[in-house]
Amino acid sequence: MKRVLIIYTGGTVGMVSQPGNGSLVPADFDRIRRLMPEIDRMPVAVDYYPFLAPIDSSNILPEVWQLLGRIIVENYTGYDGFVVLHGTDTMAYSASMLSYLLEGLAKPVVFTGAQLPADVVRSDAKENLINALEIAAHPEFVVPEVCICFDSKLLRGNRTVKFSSEKFQAFQSPNYPPLVEAGVHLQFFTEHFRPYAPGAQLAFQREIDTRVGLLKFFPGLSFDQVRALLNAPNLRGVVLETFGTGNLPEYTWLLNLLEERIRSGIVFLNVSQCVAGAVEQGLYSTSRRLLELGVVSGHDLVTEAAITKLMYLLGRHPDDPTAVAQALGRDLRGEMTIAEPKYVPTPAER
Ligand code: ASP
Repeated sequence: MKRVLIIYTGGTVGMVSQPGNGSLVPADFDRIRRLMPEIDRMPVAVDYYPFLAPIDSSNILPEVWQLLGRIIVENYTGYDGFVVLHGTDTMAYSASMLSYLLEGLAKPVVFTGAQLPADVVRSDAKENLINALEIAAHPEFVVPEVCICFDSKLLRGNRTVKFSSEKFQAFQSPNYPPLVEAGVHLQFFTEHFRPYAPGAQLAFQREIDTRVGLLKFFPGLSFDQVRALLNAPNLRGVVLETFGTGNLPEYTWLLNLLEERIRSGIVFLNVSQCVAGAVEQGLYSTSRRLLELGVVSGHDLVTEAAITKLMYLLGRHPDDPTAVAQALGRDLRGEMTIAEPKYVPTPAER
């Protein structure tokens, strides 16, 4: 029988209404256990690692990512898979970060949670947890990835965004197909799994550097705001959330400021505000300068995977912006698809 460790961090799945104001707060894990006796009937040996102080995932900290990584590494040989119960608000960030921190992963690490607490009659908790557990303990198929299991789909974690605060389909993977679909049968799309070398050793990186910024462009964004962000003390990396295929306004002050900060060693990563599709620097003249300045293209990275990738690489290469930029441009854990540029206009055409 396969063995799975369920790690409970908190989130709506285990929340109860606070007496007095009715706001939802995390409760201890025994409640969920009692509400889901089905787990005991499944052909899988389950152990539990409940956080003593479960959290709303909006309160997640890099220390929690480090703790999760450590729990998985310390229990890696004893289990065939891991299920992480987590709030949905930041689940895409946590799954992305864990995918980077756990290099050489050969076992499933499946994040799941719920949009309604487990003790609500219409809750999605039971379906999500049982699907996650079945996938993590599947006798035939091993998904060697950090994933999110939600609303009958298993998605690669670092491809996901929280797409709805309301629907049971809380997550989408706009640029990558599902790994598993759960209907009457579990359908495994093995062609979409990340290949792994059988014998590869699991390596866990502890260091995370959170000195990053996110600059989202909008028409009318002012010099003062951009300057305040880019001149923040100790800043080491910035994700630019740009328009369309990676374009931004061609204000001279903006391009000069970017150039100055790049020269000072800050690493810039360009991702699109569009939910689906990819950055293609140079396709329009409004992104040509970024290409010339050495801003790294995030291709089809989602923002959650971009921010965590930057934090991970800054932690890996503390004093080497060039190494950070080079690694940012590579696909590390299946988080981005590097496509050849489809069309780059010649100067005459522009
Ligand atoms: N605020 C909750 C959390 O992220 C939402 C959820 O779990 O669905 O912990």
